[in-house]
Amino acid sequence: MPKNLDIIIIGGGAAGFFTAINAAEKTPHLKIAILERGKEVLTKVKISGGGRCNVTHAEFLPKELTQNYPRGEKELLGPFHTFMTGDTIEWFEKRGVELKIEEDGRMFPVSNSSQTIIDCFLSETKRLGVEVLLSQPVKEIQKNEGRYILTTSTDTFSAEKIVVTTGSNPKIWKLLKDLGHSIVPAVPSLFTFNIKDSRIADLPGLSTNASVKVLDKNGKTVLESDGPLLITHWGMSGPAILKLSAWGARILEPIKYNFTIEVNWLNTLTEEDVLDSLKNLKILQGKQTIYKYAQFELPKRLWQSIVKAAGIAETLTWAEATRENFQNLTNQLTAAIFEVNGKSTFKEEFVTAGGVDLKEVNFKTFESRIQENLYFAGEVLNIDAITGGFNFQNAWTGGYIVSQNL
Ligand SMILES: Cc1cc2nc3c(=O)[nH]c(=O)nc-3n(C[C@H](O)[C@H](O)[C@H](O)COP(=O)(O)OP(=O)(O)OC[C@H]3O[C@@H](n4cnc5c(N)ncnc54)[C@H](O)[C@@H]3O)c2cc1C
Repeated sequence: MPKNLDIIIIGGGAAGFFTAINAAEKTPHLKIAILERGKEVLTKVKISGGGRCNVTHAEFLPKELTQNYPRGEKELLGPFHTFMTGDTIEWFEKRGVELKIEEDGRMFPVSNSSQTIIDCFLSETKRLGVEVLLSQPVKEIQKNEGRYILTTSTDTFSAEKIVVTTGSNPKIWKLLKDLGHSIVPAVPSLFTFNIKDSRIADLPGLSTNASVKVLDKNGKTVLESDGPLLITHWGMSGPAILKLSAWGARILEPIKYNFTIEVNWLNTLTEEDVLDSLKNLKILQGKQTIYKYAQFELPKRLWQSIVKAAGIAETLTWAEATRENFQNLTNQLTAAIFEVNGKSTFKEEFVTAGGVDLKEVNFKTFESRIQENLYFAGEVLNIDAITGGFNFQNAWTGGYIVSQNL
């Protein structure tokens, strides 16, 4: 005989716990259980944000917030009007977990420990009587007389309503396919670019603000971003690059991560701006050697590498520089071409683009448009964000809205 419940949540991660707790609060008379395949729950929360859990991001306008989601931008606008950053902060605060904002907008528990979030979730599920069942990998989902029958490796469960919060998990996507859903194939998002180039080879650890374009074979811009760019041992990382990896996840996979980028080390300055400034330097500090003193507030080592790349001798003074010298230097400063060959994982923070096709979900409730009483939240959907706390915000928003509509 299957174990009968009212609501089963498949997956004990961020979205699963948030759904379960809010559902149990709203409908305390219902029997709710979380089925988790592993021996532990909330494993990703544990390691998230380098063990500190970047819970959300201090962005308080729904429209602005959506712009951090390469997949889900349009669909999340309505849901964010119901539950977003401010609500997340309040939700945790009510339960004794205070969050703090860092300079770049990321929000963490004041304790700087993801365990605080885990403890909060575990004590809430306990208080509200949510059953958390471990080592229960759901292997089959069937429908029988309006109830869902779930088979795990050891048991059978039945429930009127189910919520799938299994993250990016191909096995569950296969089961959802059998229930009639379309699954957008998974590709990696949030990765760094591998670049072997003498201009950056000696500069790992250096970070500067830059704008970066991804170019197609004809040199046309296909993607653009700006922000801090970090030079690493393998190539380039930092927000400017990670944003490109997320927005370009679907474009860069078919070309196997071999492509060309153009870097403007001076961010918003144009070729003309820079040429004008260089001419001024010729007048104002003609006797100075170009190589020795960094300009445009660039880090000195980067400036020297750029000057070298422009073919300018270390002893050349501003007064001696030719028009050609200036043009080469400007090109290296504002439109430096680099070849990307492959990608690397960003601090082990891998996020997958792909999942349940968003057309098949009603975003007022997060219920399936294909199967009644089947709901989704979190990364199981074809929603993902750039780094900064936005992926968890998607899990909280989805989980909350599901819980209010079950
Ligand atoms: C190292 C790392 C660091 C990260 N840091 C951050 C961060 O600081 N901030 C941020 O916003 N995002 C971060 N992310 C992304 C974030 O962790 C995910 O977006 C988020 O965890 C998704 O939540 P979820 O509940 O949808 O899925 P998950 O957290 O992946 O949870 C899914 C759960 O379902 C279970 N499950 C899967 N299949 C089955 C099955 N068949 N039966 C039963 N259970 C099943 C899994 O075992 C898992 O426990 C990070 C990701 C990684 C990998």
